[in-house]
Amino acid sequence: MPIGEFELIERYFSGRGAARADLRLGVGDDAALVSPPPGHELVLALDTVAAGTHFPPDAPARSVGHRALAVNLSDLAAMGADPAWALLGLSLPSGDEAWVAEFAAGLDALARRHGVALAGGDTTRGPLSATVMLAGTVPAGGALLRRGARPGEDVWVSGTPGDAGAGLALLQGRLAAHAEARDQLLRRFLLPEPRVELGLRLRGVASACIDVSDGLLGDLGKLCAASGVGASLDARRLPLSPELAEASGFEAAAALALTAGDDCELLFTAPAARRSEIEALQAGVSCRRIGVIVADGGVTVAGTALPRDAGHGFDHFGR
Ligand code: ADP
Ligand code: MG
Repeated sequence: MPIGEFELIERYFSGRGAARADLRLGVGDDAALVSPPPGHELVLALDTVAAGTHFPPDAPARSVGHRALAVNLSDLAAMGADPAWALLGLSLPSGDEAWVAEFAAGLDALARRHGVALAGGDTTRGPLSATVMLAGTVPAGGALLRRGARPGEDVWVSGTPGDAGAGLALLQGRLAAHAEARDQLLRRFLLPEPRVELGLRLRGVASACIDVSDGLLGDLGKLCAASGVGASLDARRLPLSPELAEASGFEAAAALALTAGDDCELLFTAPAARRSEIEALQAGVSCRRIGVIVADGGVTVAGTALPRDAGHGFDHFGR
């Protein structure tokens, strides 16, 4: 049974996410009102997930709701920001209430876990897509940027990159795996865990940071370009998950870890003097040293053969 726009908003998007005292006015007026803490800067990110581009059109609605927020949480994590308020722009082909209920449940659960309030949004008819604008805060001057990496510093990555890309390949029938590995890898694509706590703990520790969402090599290339440096990676140091290694051999697993998108991991740099501190961060995910920053531009990889165009990262309008 189709449901009307206003009923839909009231039922599924009012009072969603965490309750926050600093959200003075949420869903229901013309715009939301928030009170940022004194001495802080606002950090703003916006990302869209569109059917057919970022997820298969028949992906579970709960996953779409989760990922619409997760990709933005990952961007704020990469800035070392504390996420707070979200706006949701939802475009729906029809008023399919069951789909919206699942979508809202996925977004709500992740928002609560990270203390994010859904402050407002817009709902329209159109091709299936969800855009989230997420706002958070950092102490003034404390944000992590892409541009601070210096030659001689270590390159680190969190978690086990490549898993989400393998999950998508499984979903699309381009890869096969045993049931247990399959479940785990699918989960890493459908319900990725953004590294918010890690980002907060890296403030004042990492010299530069970016989230890995378009492929590790491409994103490292962006960090290096912003910092005016290059990087040298050792593929043998890549933290490959046992599930990924099982689903594909080392070369294919390393290629996925280096080039596949959709991971919500953090890639960052830090002076060698901070190694033990980083290993002890206790942010719910471990970090691995995978290379070093060098003075000359460009990113090189030792220890594996890669496709020639591997380093570019995902480009919506690329050929
Ligand atoms: P207006 O016509 O003034 O833009 P809307 O009818 O678009 O108002 O929205 C009414 C209220 O519902 C606003 O507070 C808006 O922020 C909120 N809202 C609309 N769609 C969503 C959504 N998908 N998620 C969260 N809040 C929404
Ligand atoms: Mg509106």
